[in-house]
Amino acid sequence: MTQTVTPAADPGLEARYRARSLWLDTIPEPLIPRPSLESDVDCDVAIVGAGFTGLWTAYYLKQLDASLRIVVVEREVAGYGPSGRNGGWVSSGIAGAARAYGYGRGAEPVQRALRETQNTVDEIGGVAEREGIDCGYLKAGALTVATTEPQRARLESNSARTYERGDIARALDPGELEQLVHIPGVLAASFTPDAARIHPARLVRGLGHVCERLGVTIHERTAALEVSPGRVRCATATVRADTVLRATESYTTQLPGESRRYLPLYSLMIATEPLPADVWAELGWRDGLLIGDAHHLFFYSQRTIDDRIAIGGRGSPYRLRRPISERHERSEEVAERLRQALRRHFPAAADAAVTHHWGGPLAVPRDWSMSINFDPRTRVGLAGGYSGHGVVASNIAGRTLADLVLGRDTDLVTLPWVGHRSRRWEPEPVRFLASRAIVGILGQADHFEDRTGRTDRRTRLVSPFMPPG
Ligand SMILES: Cc1cc2nc3c(=O)[nH]c(=O)nc-3n(C[C@H](O)[C@H](O)[C@H](O)COP(=O)(O)OP(=O)(O)OC[C@H]3O[C@@H](n4cnc5c(N)ncnc54)[C@H](O)[C@@H]3O)c2cc1C
Repeated sequence: MTQTVTPAADPGLEARYRARSLWLDTIPEPLIPRPSLESDVDCDVAIVGAGFTGLWTAYYLKQLDASLRIVVVEREVAGYGPSGRNGGWVSSGIAGAARAYGYGRGAEPVQRALRETQNTVDEIGGVAEREGIDCGYLKAGALTVATTEPQRARLESNSARTYERGDIARALDPGELEQLVHIPGVLAASFTPDAARIHPARLVRGLGHVCERLGVTIHERTAALEVSPGRVRCATATVRADTVLRATESYTTQLPGESRRYLPLYSLMIATEPLPADVWAELGWRDGLLIGDAHHLFFYSQRTIDDRIAIGGRGSPYRLRRPISERHERSEEVAERLRQALRRHFPAAADAAVTHHWGGPLAVPRDWSMSINFDPRTRVGLAGGYSGHGVVASNIAGRTLADLVLGRDTDLVTLPWVGHRSRRWEPEPVRFLASRAIVGILGQADHFEDRTGRTDRRTRLVSPFMPPG
């Protein structure tokens, strides 16, 4: 028998959660935490973390076996982490480096993985529709633009490389580009139809409600202190379970013995006020179209369901003492870089007020490549390390973990990230210096290339810390 305590509404706490992103700020429901766990409980599957990975896993487990007793423990509220803060790109493409998944020793597994990411864009839209999750899902594709020669060269070589693996991104001619959006000074552009826009907090929160309807118990404001076979020890009580799954992505580095599993690299965003129809007409931005560029520190953007531009990019390295903290989620320098990208690419919106600025930690493994692991002996599993591509990857992880837990012999469980292990990051301060170098050198290279139109070779200095090939 579980004893629970319903927290009283706490306006300060709700304001803190809403301040984490535009998306959490604009969800229509109140953000009052669910009851926390107050006494020990037994169940079949315990899941730590109520982001996309944890909730997709609970959802698919319930689809396969409705009788399973599933308990999710979440330190804050569902969607508190990057699942409620991201760019809302539901985009195909493998999370990680093809070579890390064995590309080169044979192309087939990586091609299969890529196809799975393409199918998953539709899978997410399908679930949202079936389950009535109003998350603004709109599949209108993703565009990448190059506005300097070095960017053009990168875009073309990237496209050629990924095309070989079965990616269906293709180059656009200027006429085709004009049909999608008006951006000045574009030298080259590539487009993939396998991408959709969402309001991520609506999806992750909606998924939480769907899971509850299916009988999953979610305890919020419940921190797991220790995750081990058969049990999750929380501050106030313990969840005993046949199967234990860890879905804490970048926050995994805060658990005992896990600090070097990932580099917690920050990605930050800004959003404008809602823009009027005449500005959208001038921008010519097809609704739902995702737009990014080919800078080293590239931007990613979307037209939101309430007609804002939300635009993000990497930057802001973590601080050595506390790699993950709400204090690292804003940076005037990164916000200014994003405002410049906004002015340059979308001049009709140049005068729009920026109403929101936020960010969150990406989980970057040493080889930048994701893992889904389940040990059938200990019945402990985990998924993560999506390196900033977790929206699609977490859905794949959810379906795959469900199959692994239930011992199902499906195509998913033989994809190349299943059982993949990246080596750990070097001890501090090397990991910290690597994060500084990645952000610093790539930022300087972007400046140099924008100024001179020539490729900056200094980026080689950080290649030992970047994805392999
Ligand atoms: C600014 C930004 C933009 C991004 N844009 C995109 C994008 O457009 N497309 C894309 O594909 N990816 C994007 N990503 C990455 C993507 O958001 C993540 O990879 C994905 O959301 C990870 O989901 P998750 O459920 O694994 O982890 P999270 O969303 O981090 O969820 C983990 C949960 O675990 C909880 N938790 C942590 N520790 C504990 C504990 N000890 N006990 C209990 N609970 C705990 C946390 O509170 C959190 O709610 C972006 C990320 C950021 C930060």
